[in-house]
Amino acid sequence: MMTSIKLEMSVKPIFFALDGKKLSEFDFYLRKLQNKIYGVKVGLEMFIHEGPSVVKTLKNQGWVVFLDLKLHDIPNTVKEATISADNVGADYLTVHIASKKEALTSASEIKGRNVKLLGVSKALTSHSIDEGTSHEVKKDFLLAKNCGLDGVICPPSEIVETKKIFDLVITPGIRLLNDNLDDQKNVTTPEKAIKMGAKYLVMGRSVKNNLEYITEELDI
Ligand code: C5P
Repeated sequence: MMTSIKLEMSVKPIFFALDGKKLSEFDFYLRKLQNKIYGVKVGLEMFIHEGPSVVKTLKNQGWVVFLDLKLHDIPNTVKEATISADNVGADYLTVHIASKKEALTSASEIKGRNVKLLGVSKALTSHSIDEGTSHEVKKDFLLAKNCGLDGVICPPSEIVETKKIFDLVITPGIRLLNDNLDDQKNVTTPEKAIKMGAKYLVMGRSVKNNLEYITEELDI
């Protein structure tokens, strides 16, 4: 019991984004990151290439798995796809809020569901955000809350407002001070994102580029 409490406390609240086709591309990183970070994120690129068994493989290795499929479809399809994701063992799953109320509600009300549902809005961190978009994001997140979703994927600029709606706020667009921004525009540092209220961070390239720092020094 003591060991697991200690382990949980030392694990950094990061999902490492496995942005590639083959799981084997990440063997080196996953070995280094095991027991140091909270989980891994599998997106469409890897899910389509490797197939759903990739979730089971990662779960067998002890990882918390976040399946980033951004479901956007009619209510029955969103609901049944959520059941499938739950059955393969995903711990978190993204659903597009643009699927609207009936789809979101039917997925969130699945009996005995273990997978946590995360709403995504159209605010990608590769775009800058203006006042109008910020308003739309808030509207989307309120709808997500009313439909029973568990949390949201939230850009850095919207964390503080979103925290008033959801506890489970997960934030991509994370860069260390000296990192290249690449295609990301709405960014912040890990420390600031956590301070503003993000519960977990999604980090891909920045983890790969600063592996030693992330595993040994980053204090979040
Ligand atoms: O390498 P980097 O840390 O920029 O990767 C960010 C990850 O977060 C990618 O997997 C990307 O798909 C995801 N993501 C994002 N912005 C969003 C939602 C997801 O960058 N709004």
